[in-house]
Amino acid sequence: MQYIFEPMCPSVQIAGRTERFPLHRIYCVGWNYVSHVREMGSDPDREPPIFFMKPLDAITPSGSQVVYPPATENLHYEIELVVAIGREGHAISQDQATEYIWGYGVGIDMTRRDLQAIAKQRGQPWDAAKSFDQSAPISELQPAEHIGHPSSGRIWLEVNGEPRQDGDIEQLIWGVPEIIEHLSALFHLRAGDLIFTGTPAGVSPIERGDVLRGGVDGVATIEIEIV
Ligand code: MN
Repeated sequence: MQYIFEPMCPSVQIAGRTERFPLHRIYCVGWNYVSHVREMGSDPDREPPIFFMKPLDAITPSGSQVVYPPATENLHYEIELVVAIGREGHAISQDQATEYIWGYGVGIDMTRRDLQAIAKQRGQPWDAAKSFDQSAPISELQPAEHIGHPSSGRIWLEVNGEPRQDGDIEQLIWGVPEIIEHLSALFHLRAGDLIFTGTPAGVSPIERGDVLRGGVDGVATIEIEIV
């Protein structure tokens, strides 16, 4: 038996450039839009947003075919604004947060909703529900020096051309500076970190053959096909 090891250097395409954005970690925020917290049957006033992570090799570029994962009969999409961190820091205050942001993108937090429901019921971790292969499709990244730091803008997703999610990033319960303050109190942030910031209402099951298209106006669009 021969084993072959190759170094893994996941990275994300940067809009209009040949250089790529090398990744360090993928953080995600759960329960960060009132409309989605309500559709999941929770109370947005009682449930604080939560953090979880995805493995780096879950990153999948826009335009990819995404294989329907095993062990689920309820695969969901969650369209999200993604923040790309450009310098290291910890205990970052809200006022300083934008100094640490290199740019933005749009991601889809793919979720095995049936496994998440079981994990929530039993008080177990979410890894099997959230952190599977190809569970983090992402658009090209846009440098903040080009698009600024968006605090409003439509966030939307269509399945086979039919609207499913439609919100505005100004509806985030925790805005991006607050997320960075809280996350950097828990973890030392570094260049190459991505933060998926949460999804608005409208999540639902998808099937093989479905085409998902979404975006955040002023940031980027993303498209994947489930196979
Ligand atoms: Mn999510």
